[in-house]
Amino acid sequence: MTATPQYDVVVLGAGSGGYAAALRGAQLGLKVALIEADKVGGTCLHRGCIPTKAMLHSAEVADQVREAGKFGIGATFDGIDMAQVGAFRQGVVDRLHKGLQGLVTSRGVTLIRGHGHVVSPAAVQVGPDLVEGANLVLATGSHARSLPGVAIAGRVMTSDQALRIDWAPRQPIVLGGGVIGLEFASLWASFGARVTIVEALERLAPNEDVAISKALERAFRRRGIAFKVGARVEGVSEDGDVVTVTLSDGGRLEGDALLVAVGRGPSTAGVGFEEIGVQMDRGFVLTDPELRANVPGVWAVGDIVPGLQLAHRGFAHGIAVAERVAGLRPPPLIESGIPRVTYCDPEIASVGLTEAAARAEHGAAAVETVEYNLAGNGKSQVLATQGFVKLVRLVGGPVVGMHLLGARVGELVGEAQLIVNWEAYPEDVAELIHAHPTQDEAIGEAFLALAGKPLHAHA
Ligand code: NAD
Repeated sequence: MTATPQYDVVVLGAGSGGYAAALRGAQLGLKVALIEADKVGGTCLHRGCIPTKAMLHSAEVADQVREAGKFGIGATFDGIDMAQVGAFRQGVVDRLHKGLQGLVTSRGVTLIRGHGHVVSPAAVQVGPDLVEGANLVLATGSHARSLPGVAIAGRVMTSDQALRIDWAPRQPIVLGGGVIGLEFASLWASFGARVTIVEALERLAPNEDVAISKALERAFRRRGIAFKVGARVEGVSEDGDVVTVTLSDGGRLEGDALLVAVGRGPSTAGVGFEEIGVQMDRGFVLTDPELRANVPGVWAVGDIVPGLQLAHRGFAHGIAVAERVAGLRPPPLIESGIPRVTYCDPEIASVGLTEAAARAEHGAAAVETVEYNLAGNGKSQVLATQGFVKLVRLVGGPVVGMHLLGARVGELVGEAQLIVNWEAYPEDVAELIHAHPTQDEAIGEAFLALAGKPLHAHA
């Protein structure tokens, strides 16, 4: 006879994916244990999304103060008070952390503090305690990767350290022109630094539509952010306050800080996953589309599942797994329908297929695109921003991708994701009225153009 497990679900890791599974599970009446070695909220709340966005807001304020005169407001920029930037950032994190802890308690989730080690598909060892559950959700998240031979120490840092330094680099080198690299390059430039980005691929934001990359590169050039694309970092050395980077093209760069932003790896080593027979690939847990690992009763969510490493994907994973455990049948997530935002200035927002991906998937002749420039948008002019909205549709068919660049366009991704995920036809969206004057109108205008009846655009 086997003993009844203490819990319906044991969740290992209280980041975005794990705590979402725990909260939704409890909401559905399941008895849930949530195991966390550090703080509830994980990377997103403590070392990722939230603190970086707080700092990017400080950066935006710095730019606004510098440019206040342009808008008729007298203000002088007296510099960056990094202690106060940190205090503001930490205040936001602390309030959200407190709220989240309250939610976990009020939903009746049992929070178990400590490092968990999986010892069977139904049990996790936490110190002297064995936590047993009918289902196990692996949600151990990810960590910043470095390059072989590049040690993270001193002035060579990942986003973990870069967030916490109490000084503003004057001449940082940013290794990687992906999401983290672009956000830090943007914020340090706003703090007054001369930034150089080194990206191995041929363009900044290489996962985005080519048109976005090209326009972003122009915008960064205007902001004085330097970059080298198609260049790999081959060596890094640190001497006193100077970090020297040698590049694959023979070039050398010197700076006072190096941010290594070359991607994040799954945090799955040494926690017992392989030992219980979970199938893995390069540290990622392999699952079916419903997030079941190959071992019965074991599920995986968030950054340890191959695909986009985004907090909102983790939330969606966690919710879906809890619902499946409770006997509901949410549909599997469609990865290309997940909205993506990079919070540099100007912001990038996108959902669905890039033009190149749509051509590859559907054939070049089957794809039609239109770009609407924010120069024609009243609110964009008020915000003094530049950028565009690009639509990718199948000829005679639905919209399969939307790509936006410009100040605050991250806030427009909500409409974009409805259009792409509901497989809207341009003719349908063109009928919808967009409030004037908003930047959202640029989406409306792009659809009017695609429907063959542009209003504020040259034919
Ligand atoms: P990334 O994959 O977005 O970018 C890494 C970049 O580094 C790539 O463009 C790659 O070509 C480049 N690179 C790798 N090796 C190199 C080398 N030797 N020399 C030069 N360039 C090199 O990864 P990231 O920016 O580190 O972000 C990690 C993860 O965190 C991503 O999945 C990202 O989506 C996520 N994240 C998301 C947000 C957001 O949603 N706003 C913010 C931060 C991080």
